[in-house]
Amino acid sequence: MITRVVSPAAPLIRKLQTESLHTFGLLGLLLLLGVLITEQLVRLFENEIQKLLTPLLAEPRAESSGESSMLMPTLAKTTISEFATMINLINMRIRRINQLTIELARSRDQMAELSMTDALTGCRNRRDFHLRLAEEVARAKRNQHTLMGILLDIDHFKDVNDSYGHPFGDKALQSVAHAISTGIRAADYCFRYGGEEFVTLLIDCPQDRALLIAESLRIKVQGLRISSGDVSISVSVSLGLASLHLEDDDADTFLARMDKALYLAKRRGRNSVVMAPHPEDEH
Ligand code: GH3
Ligand code: MG
Ligand code: MG
Repeated sequence: MITRVVSPAAPLIRKLQTESLHTFGLLGLLLLLGVLITEQLVRLFENEIQKLLTPLLAEPRAESSGESSMLMPTLAKTTISEFATMINLINMRIRRINQLTIELARSRDQMAELSMTDALTGCRNRRDFHLRLAEEVARAKRNQHTLMGILLDIDHFKDVNDSYGHPFGDKALQSVAHAISTGIRAADYCFRYGGEEFVTLLIDCPQDRALLIAESLRIKVQGLRISSGDVSISVSVSLGLASLHLEDDDADTFLARMDKALYLAKRRGRNSVVMAPHPEDEH
């Protein structure tokens, strides 16, 4: 259809057409501007979101790559130091156990020592005597060497106790024990056999030498002064001496011959030494 513009409406219509064109142009511009602004806004948002997400995304990435290699030595260091601490603790425990074992062994030795020691005199006790006697008799027989035994008994000791009291008697016992212990060789033994009786074992000692030792012990005891306050006395001992007969004797018969010799020394008047006869000469 052909539209004919009739005058005088024609200028008005042209004006409207022009204004419409301008309006469309403006709308187009506004639309373009809106698109540009929207694009900018989207970019801005994208940047901000990216900024927010980067640390969150970076952490797992770091663990699985760069930083994990930094974490590994730290982890290894911690494990090694914990292991070293554990080893130190174990070492300390082992050292403590070693200490306790030594202390235990020491107290066991002390207990053993105490169990064989006479509390009053410090000599070995009767229990230990019987053990040593059996050992030494067996050793002498095995090695074919001499073994001498001396049984000593303090004379009239009951009178000492009765006259000066039991504590004084104890002191006398200690003095006599010391005199005997220091009157024999270190390798030999001195035992408290009973109340006021002592016994010594002289290892690998010839008979004549044993006789000399017995005699020197008798003299030594006789020379002791036992004093307390105003009291000062001397005591004497009787000694029965026997030599182990390697063929005929055992521990019991050897001790019995010492006892028999002591009995004879008492019978002889005390303060004396008697050597037991050879077993074959006894009959
Ligand atoms: P003998 O010459 O015949 O051996 O006469 P003894 O008096 O020495 O012998 P007896 O067996 O008659 O007396 C021994 C005394 O030894 C009696 C006892 O009280 C005393 N005695 C024994 N053990 C101890 C002790 O540990 N301490 C004291 N103080 N005396 C003791
Ligand atoms: Mg006696
Ligand atoms: Mg006596």
